[in-house]
Amino acid sequence: ASFGYEDVAYDDKEDLVRGVFERVAPSYDVMNDLMSAGVHRLWKDYFVSRVGAFAGMTHLDVAGGTGDVAFRVLRALQRAERDAELDGQVLDAKTRGKVIVSDINPAMLREGMKRATTRGIAQNQLEWLEGNAEKLPVEDGSVDVYTIAFGLRNVTDTRAAIADAYRCLKPGGKYMILEFSRVENDVLRSVYDFYSFNIIPKLGEIVARDRGSYQYLVESIRKFPPQEELKSMMQGVGFRHVSYENLTGGMVAMHVGYKD
Ligand code: SAM
Repeated sequence: ASFGYEDVAYDDKEDLVRGVFERVAPSYDVMNDLMSAGVHRLWKDYFVSRVGAFAGMTHLDVAGGTGDVAFRVLRALQRAERDAELDGQVLDAKTRGKVIVSDINPAMLREGMKRATTRGIAQNQLEWLEGNAEKLPVEDGSVDVYTIAFGLRNVTDTRAAIADAYRCLKPGGKYMILEFSRVENDVLRSVYDFYSFNIIPKLGEIVARDRGSYQYLVESIRKFPPQEELKSMMQGVGFRHVSYENLTGGMVAMHVGYKD
């Protein structure tokens, strides 16, 4: 059965997505592991290894959900700052960097805060910010690195979100997208499609008791612009040196661009 996502009017997408993530928030982390057999952790590890964290940086993780990417960035930032201090740099509360986790959905952020507490993550360099990626309450030109992982396809107006990322970044700042994309090999793609359309909604039904939301997730992946198209959109907004890298045969792609 279809979730009817295809028929949803443009204006209603935000409400639809809000409902989906409100419902999935408590089971979100378990489902991620289950659906991807844990591979999402490797994608995120790789993605964050490309952030290039440095002492004093301001990092903005958008559609940050329960903090998976932000916690990794924070760890990288703390490591970079420890190294800087060993090299003799003096850092205080003002000059230390910070990681801002932003999401439109307070239910996801709440799960994230809970996780940070139970994991004993020091939160003095972490900020939680509710906001829509299309127009974030973030000052122009204030961010060194902006990441959005598995979030952009949920935003109603993709181009507006890319343009807002450009606005938030400092000149020279880095924009990074991690998102499901187009599997390049035909045989692999048909296996993947079968898995997505048949197994994932069923897993959602059994584990999260919510088939509809997982049906939405699968359909949103199929509708999202593939590698080259997303690259062009980034260039269209003004990003320079735009490149992408396929992970797991294009199941996921990482796009990177810089503000001039
Ligand atoms: N980045 C996290 C990760 O990789 O685990 C969470 C990804 S989750 C699949 C997508 C997130 O996008 C949800 O937390 C949802 O609330 C958020 N989201 C959806 N629409 C949004 C929007 N317009 N602006 C900001 N966040 C949005």
